[in-house]
Amino acid sequence: MTPLLSVRDLKVHFPIRKGFFRGEIRNVKAVDGVTFDIAPGESLALVGESGCGKSTLGAAVLGMQVPTSGTISFAGEAVRHGESATRTRLSRDIQTVFQDPVAALNPKMSVGDSIAEPLAIHGVGDAKSRAERVAELLRLVGLHPQHAERRPNAFSGGQRQRIVIARALALQPKLLILDEPVSALDVSIRSQILNLLLDLQKRFGLSYLFISHDLSVVRHFADRVAVMYLGKLVETGPTDTVFARPVHPYTEALLSAVPLPDPVLQRTRKRIVLTGDLPSPANPPKGCAFVTRCPLAVDICRLDPPPLVQVGKAQQAACHLRAAAPAQEGLSA
Ligand code: SF4
Repeated sequence: MTPLLSVRDLKVHFPIRKGFFRGEIRNVKAVDGVTFDIAPGESLALVGESGCGKSTLGAAVLGMQVPTSGTISFAGEAVRHGESATRTRLSRDIQTVFQDPVAALNPKMSVGDSIAEPLAIHGVGDAKSRAERVAELLRLVGLHPQHAERRPNAFSGGQRQRIVIARALALQPKLLILDEPVSALDVSIRSQILNLLLDLQKRFGLSYLFISHDLSVVRHFADRVAVMYLGKLVETGPTDTVFARPVHPYTEALLSAVPLPDPVLQRTRKRIVLTGDLPSPANPPKGCAFVTRCPLAVDICRLDPPPLVQVGKAQQAACHLRAAAPAQEGLSA
């Protein structure tokens, strides 16, 4: 099957310039050689700490950030950044839901006008048909059509995120980029929004690129997980497999912070606390990007970057010590 989204060896480097002639002295490697696919109807969670490059990658997929190198294809067609025809096509087929629904909605516009805005920009329908579509979209996300008249400040955070989702669906996109869509919401309503997104995915066959710093949020949401560290993917695989048998020490550390449903296992589970901060992408370590925080690091880790290799049927990891072994029990180096 042709992937809906195909990203190959994508790099987004930002030059740092200095001096009178503004010469380039080094690069910030925000995204550094990332490859993945998303199939139609599939959800991929891109997980990692703040500053690891997830949102820059999302911006490149949206056509808002020109890559330094590498390719992005959408529905089999190459995405040519900078071409207005590409931007128009992508802006219909790919929509985004950001973290903060307050910032995403214009406080001076009625909710109905906000939801209808993408339709008006793309010249879809007339005022009457757009109003009907707004009513349909509000119902779809669990709100009442009469809510169209109100301003965003009349709604709770969860309701505002529903409105943002309604607007994202207006043009019937194929892919939604969900950039931390529930992290600004109360814990009590996060699962409602995640369930709404799952229902919408089933109903319309949507694909999701779900960007999150929190693995616990993606556990029951995503089909596959890609763990990102300092601009690179360090582990990818089906969500169940990665949660049951993480291979990379970074994934293992992230997962150790995720609460377990079994209280007995939770009590006995050892949390892996990473020391130190994420290194600067302007000055990454020479070998493995994770070497400065990895409890297992050995000499080779300081010299050579480990490649992302197959470690199971559908699982990949980048680690000199662990990626050569099958992804199964006994992961201690
Ligand atoms: Fe740790 Fe070395 Fe593996 Fe990197 S390659 S994750 S430093 S053991």
